[in-house]
Amino acid sequence: MNKLDVDVAIIGTGTAGMTAYRAAKAQGASVVLIESGPYGTTCARVGCMPSKLLIAAAEAAHVMQSSAPFGVHAGEVRIDGRAVMDRVKRERDRFVGFVVEGVDATPDTDKLRGHARFTGPRTLVVDDHTEVCAGRIVIATGSTPTRLPQLENVGPGIVTSDDVFYWDELPRSVAVIGTGVIGLELGQALSRLGVRTRLIARGGSIAQITDPEVLRAASRVLNEELDIQFQTEVVGAVQDGDEVALTVRDALGKESTERFQFVLMAAGRRPNVHDIGLEHTGLERGPDGIPHFDTRTMQCGNSHIFIAGDANNERPLLHDAADHGKIAGDNAGRYPDVRPGLRRAAISVAFTEPNIATLGANYRSLCAGGKRKFAIGMVSFANQGRSRVMLQNKGMLRVYGEYGTRQFLGAEMIGPRAEHLAHTLSWAVQLCMTVDQMLEMPFYHPVIEEGVRTALRDLASNLTKGEGETDAADTEPGT
Ligand SMILES: Cc1cc2nc3c(=O)[nH]c(=O)nc-3n(C[C@H](O)[C@H](O)[C@H](O)COP(=O)(O)OP(=O)(O)OC[C@H]3O[C@@H](n4cnc5c(N)ncnc54)[C@H](O)[C@@H]3O)c2cc1C
Repeated sequence: MNKLDVDVAIIGTGTAGMTAYRAAKAQGASVVLIESGPYGTTCARVGCMPSKLLIAAAEAAHVMQSSAPFGVHAGEVRIDGRAVMDRVKRERDRFVGFVVEGVDATPDTDKLRGHARFTGPRTLVVDDHTEVCAGRIVIATGSTPTRLPQLENVGPGIVTSDDVFYWDELPRSVAVIGTGVIGLELGQALSRLGVRTRLIARGGSIAQITDPEVLRAASRVLNEELDIQFQTEVVGAVQDGDEVALTVRDALGKESTERFQFVLMAAGRRPNVHDIGLEHTGLERGPDGIPHFDTRTMQCGNSHIFIAGDANNERPLLHDAADHGKIAGDNAGRYPDVRPGLRRAAISVAFTEPNIATLGANYRSLCAGGKRKFAIGMVSFANQGRSRVMLQNKGMLRVYGEYGTRQFLGAEMIGPRAEHLAHTLSWAVQLCMTVDQMLEMPFYHPVIEEGVRTALRDLASNLTKGEGETDAADTEPGT
């Protein structure tokens, strides 16, 4: 067994790991990066980028198929599935290439290939070839799709999002299990590309929405276009030739079986903390197996171990993985002088159409304290001028503000171009702006942001009316 002594060992070369590496090196530490899988990051290989490439193709198809109300007739739209997947993979490989170039540029002495496992608080064994003794360790192991036990060992027709971006052509039919962000994005894209698609959800939740009013609006809007079966359990599946016979049970207990070419498991992702020997670290862990850590420093307890990116499951998103990695790497490099790093206002977008977006404090977290100390403003996009001009007048925005201070707290929405609205609003959260200050900002005409202004005016008025005037039902979505 080879032996290696370093200041900092980083497990994983995804976004969090690579950012941690650069930050630890900047502190002058000797660092080793350990990777068991392919280089190139989840985001570039099988995550953010290829999913958006597939969605872009789906949007192109949708625009052509839905132009008739404008008096524009595209004729018969032909979707060449092989060409669609070719572009997805070609562009994906380009993005991956840039990441791999970055890995290649790091010295070979700073890289180890193999699966890392703790054998003690400061020791890792990489496969069976190297023992690494490290002063500090950053866990940046990412996450993997959750696998449903009912769908284990069925056959090649059961796939995850990791497989989709290696398809050579579009399938005939897909059942998507899960209405989280990934399930909805891929389900809608496949459906718009002409794939017979059914989404199946155990409960009633949609993407990251926690506000019951926005949830109702989202359910209505998405059901107009997509075949979604809520409150439905997967019972089991059988591979039959090149199809899967999928059996589900609906809310009334009725079982039905239908055949699909693929069943896509998109029922969430699980942090990769379960087979890395955390039991040898002495760290306290939560019921999910994740060590307790400080979200400002990424430090696990008072230890020399840091955890970043999807592995800590705080906000399993790309920009947060990068922020986590920078903070963890910086602190691992400067340890024991551990410092809080920059944390930004939360923002999360599902690239469905309409987009779904949340930012700042969400409805559920605001309600968690018991008696609500916040007011709500809202706008429906149904009659919003510019949205109607573009025939994208669907959805709802709800904004939250604090009584007394009148500070803007956050928002949830489904609506046209919500990815952009969410950015503007998240900047206001981070700047701790009041609702009145936000209303002093410029609003052009005619733009979708005028809808945001309507919601903020409503919020300002409700804040003035006083505590207890909120109109939302206190029901929890997802049940
Ligand atoms: C389909 C999909 C779409 C997405 N879309 C978006 C989006 O639009 N916007 C957004 O912000 N986020 C999106 N995400 C989430 C985003 O991709 C992740 O949050 C981010 O890539 C996580 O980065 P990471 O560094 O934590 O993990 P990763 O990039 O997964 O890196 C972890 C690395 O650790 C390695 N590893 C694991 N265990 C070990 C071990 N024991 N030893 C050695 N190496 C190990 C793995 O092989 C992997 O290379 C999407 C994700 C998916 C799956």
